[in-house]
Formats: sequence, C-alpha cells, structure tokens
Amino acid sequence: MIEEIKRMKEEKNAVILAHNYEIPEIQDIADFVGDSLGLAQQAAKTNADLIVFCGVHFMAETASIISPQKKVIIPDLDAGCSLAESITGDQLREWKAEHPGAVVVSYVNTTADVKAETDYCVTSSNALKVVQSIPADKEILFLPDRFLGQYVQAVSGRKLNIWQGACHVHEKIGDITFDDAREKHPNADYLIHPECGCSSSCMLKSTMYDNCKDIHIFSTEGMINHVKTAPAEEFVVATETGILHRMKKEAPNKKFYPADENSVCEYMKMITMEKLYKSLKEEVYEVKVPEDLAERARLPIQRMLEIV
Ligand code: SF4
Repeated sequence: MIEEIKRMKEEKNAVILAHNYEIPEIQDIADFVGDSLGLAQQAAKTNADLIVFCGVHFMAETASIISPQKKVIIPDLDAGCSLAESITGDQLREWKAEHPGAVVVSYVNTTADVKAETDYCVTSSNALKVVQSIPADKEILFLPDRFLGQYVQAVSGRKLNIWQGACHVHEKIGDITFDDAREKHPNADYLIHPECGCSSSCMLKSTMYDNCKDIHIFSTEGMINHVKTAPAEEFVVATETGILHRMKKEAPNKKFYPADENSVCEYMKMITMEKLYKSLKEEVYEVKVPEDLAERARLPIQRMLEIV
C-alpha cells in the first residue's frame, strides 16, 4: 500500500500534507508534516496539481481558499473540529450586528463561512501581535477559543469580547496539569505546543501561576529545535499526543511524555492508510470552497500568513 501510494502520488503530481496530530504512518508517508500555519504555507506554495490533506476539514478548506486552482481532497469528510464547529457564520453575523464597527479576530480553527466574516485570522503564535496592532479605540471580537482569548487578553492587557467556544479534547480531559509529571519526571523540561484548543488553557495558566513560569510555549518548529538543542534529556509536552511521534524521530536519544495521555483528537485519527489510499486512487473527497465565499475568506488568511 505504501508503494502504491507513492506511485500514485508521482503519477498524479500530488502532495500529501499531514498535521502533527495524525497517526504515525500518515506522518511518515507525508511530504510535509506541520501545524495549521505550516500546512497553509505549504498549500500556498506547492506546484502540485492535487493536494491530499491529512488533517481536519477546516484545514482542507483553508488550502482550497488559498490555492483555488488546485484540487484539494481529504481522505475522510467526517474529520471535523469541535472548536471550528463552536461558532457558525450566522452566529458570527448576529454577534457582529450587536457590536457594529468591531474588528473580528478569528483563530484559524473556523469554517470558511466564519472566515469570510473575519478581519484577521490568527494562529496562537501571532494572535497577540495582531491584537496589539489594532488601534486601541477599536472594539475586538475574538473567537472561537475562549482560553486563547483569555490568554491574549491577560498578556496584552486589552479588553476583548471573547466567544465561549472550546475544543472537545480539552473539555474531555479537563485542565491539563503538570503536577503529576513534575513528581514523575523532576528533571524534565515542560513544553506547551499551542496549536489547538486542546492546550490553550495551559497557555492561560502559564500567565497566572508561579509554578508554571518555567514552562516554555513553542510553535512546532520552535519545539523541535528546542528538544534537539536543550541540555534536558526528558520532556513533558502538553498538547495532542500525535506530536510526540515527530519529536521522537527528530531527537531519538531523548525521552518524551505527554502531560496527559488522553489528549487525543479522534478527528485527526480518522485518517488511516486505507482511507489515504482510496482517496488518492479515486481522488475523493474533494473540498471546494465556492469562489464568492473563498474570495471573502482569502484576505484574513493572507493577513495571517503575512503576520508571523
Ligand atoms: S484537537 Fe480540538 S481544536 Fe484541534 S483539531 Fe482536534 S477538535 Fe479541533
């Protein structure tokens, strides 16, 4: 199956993009593995005719918006995102009507309909910078992740209107705490990977509690560089557990532990090798954002890609 996938990929001039939270086999066969910002950047610059997106639906939509001339397919259409689903376009239009003139800042985990109503799309690594760049007299609507919103509010000192959305992975496990890990791995470095709503409450805590002050917050590439170069031999990581696969590959002599082993996004794990094979063979399931919607959603995404 691996050989066939590679052969079809060449034949169709396809590229396989995989998110850090995908199962190891998918990460291993992908041309590029990264976070949602990295994957969006790859989708924008690829020369491939076909993008096979091994991630969740809003990410494939983002690829379709920024590369409308390419065919984008996802191996399972049911791979959704509870955080993206926590606000609809209609709900945002109503919220905007209650706050005329407000600037809308949306985390990238949103549907195309919500992006089309957005002024700035952000990732957790540039959310603070974007909010700080908005004139002080402007009201801001921040959505959908309430923890990321509270984090940005705490660090920037800027009052935000925050949508009360959350990711089910985070809700399922409750508060991630490093307390147990500190007992078991006293010499470890503590890292937060703020890619998704599953770890943004940890980011918020790191601003509030003294016993969190030695925790590092990193993007994917920052985290990989850190584990390769830091003197520590052990690392405890707060985020979806899929990222540990890449870290183990990049720093095979070091040890990695999840802060909570239940931090698993079932949506990401829906993409299997069998589904990837079928997807490439039959060129299913296409994710195509209608051009009028894509046109409105493109500007906030471009701003996200520019402000890093
Ligand atoms: S971990 Fe949460 S926020 Fe990230 S893709 Fe899964 S459901 Fe969405």
